[in-house]
Amino acid sequence: MIPYGRQDITQADVEAVVGVLQSDFLTQGPQVPKFEQMVANHVGAKQGLAVNSATSALHIACMALGLGPGDWLWTSPITFVASANCALYCGAQVDFVDIDPTTYNLCPQALERKLQLAQQLGKLPKVLVPVHLCGQPCDMAAIHALSLQYGFKIIEDASHAIGGRYQAEFIGNGRFSDITVFSFHPVKIITTAEGGMAMTNSDELAHKMALLRSHGITRDPAHMTHEPDGPWYYQQIDLGYNYRMTELQAALGLSQMTRLDSYVASRHTLARRYDALLADLPITLPWQHPDSYSGLHLYVVRLKLDQITKTHREVFEALREQGIGVNLHYIPVHTQPHYQRMGFKPADFPEAQSYYAQAISLPMYQTLTEEQQDRVAAVLKEVLRA
Ligand SMILES: *Cc1c(COP(=O)(O)O)cnc(C)c1O
Repeated sequence: MIPYGRQDITQADVEAVVGVLQSDFLTQGPQVPKFEQMVANHVGAKQGLAVNSATSALHIACMALGLGPGDWLWTSPITFVASANCALYCGAQVDFVDIDPTTYNLCPQALERKLQLAQQLGKLPKVLVPVHLCGQPCDMAAIHALSLQYGFKIIEDASHAIGGRYQAEFIGNGRFSDITVFSFHPVKIITTAEGGMAMTNSDELAHKMALLRSHGITRDPAHMTHEPDGPWYYQQIDLGYNYRMTELQAALGLSQMTRLDSYVASRHTLARRYDALLADLPITLPWQHPDSYSGLHLYVVRLKLDQITKTHREVFEALREQGIGVNLHYIPVHTQPHYQRMGFKPADFPEAQSYYAQAISLPMYQTLTEEQQDRVAAVLKEVLRA
């Protein structure tokens, strides 16, 4: 089976991890701050907070922004459930903004219409989570302008987008948001096995997230309620979690980061090859914004169902049967039973539903070979013609 995504682990990665295993620190040592610094420098953010997953990063990002009971978080229905669940962890409520049918990202025009309505109803969101689906950045300038007008905070879910650029600048630099979150799950662009990072330019947000990732505990006398009792002393000044990244993970991340730009470049080469190989098929190829550089985590095609005899499901199953490990990103979050119980109906977000009925993610990862890609294209061609 050619999977839809997979990690690339080199001998240098192995040696980096083994080196840490033989060192003094398996956790809370020097590798994590080094990794944070490297990612922050690369993307142009002031600070990075490494955690054990992007899900944890989204949770502490929401908490640091003060999201709580009575508040609303809005996101796209076409995302992984974690982009929405982070609000529920905080006791807040979730709503969605339908996608743009060309980019598959949260639609800024739909956002503006929904904000106007929400203002009349007194239900404006406190936090918006735009998701850079497939690595393609959202229209952040438009979203940021709306955030100034309507007073909401922005967490970019850039789980798909590390190494990508928006208007010539790296995603994660925080020009148009408060916090940006990356994921290092093995299917993503670089990996630490499990892991994530929250980027911010705000010292205050970084401080809050640092506390929340480690039990709400500080060792800094400046943040304590009184002078330390002695050299052993720490204080728990908030309720936090254990969301820490290990030294092994950070060492792997540091090693992977040295290949980030070449990984994204390989993905672009592969995408251009797919574009050429698949040009004549009854499918819509992924649209690329001329003014941005996608991280290209995913290569999603949409079937033109009126031009083929098979159903979406039949195409998907035929590809899997022939060893092409296609996938579907994503099942619209609002249609998940947990969300339907909150009152959402599938038809609430028609563009998301229409996308879900046609989308297929083809294999896309840095070590996918041209031979494998030719096979994907040949099988897809055959499946769509038959
Ligand atoms: C993978 C992913 C997450 C969650 O990442 P983890 O590191 O697995 O917690 C969140 N949002 C999106 C869009 C993702 O693709």
